[in-house]
Amino acid sequence: MRAMLCSCHQHLEAPDEEALYEEVLAHLRRDHPIIGMSETQVRKVVAEHSYRYECKEVYTGTVQPDEEFGPEPY
Ligand SMILES: [Zn+2]
Repeated sequence: MRAMLCSCHQHLEAPDEEALYEEVLAHLRRDHPIIGMSETQVRKVVAEHSYRYECKEVYTGTVQPDEEFGPEPY
């Protein structure tokens, strides 16, 4: 999982960086149209600011310790 926290504190996440880029782009167009970032700029931001997101850190204590990833949150 890749994840990114927008400056508006919206948490965005996706299975990989490419999908996250699509998520961020959609979020910016929906919630921050005034920023007007180009797709190239968004891609750069995602590449530099996204981070590896482990579900098990969020679901500590509720998943089997052997599982690398917890269940999907939705
Ligand atoms: Zn935002």
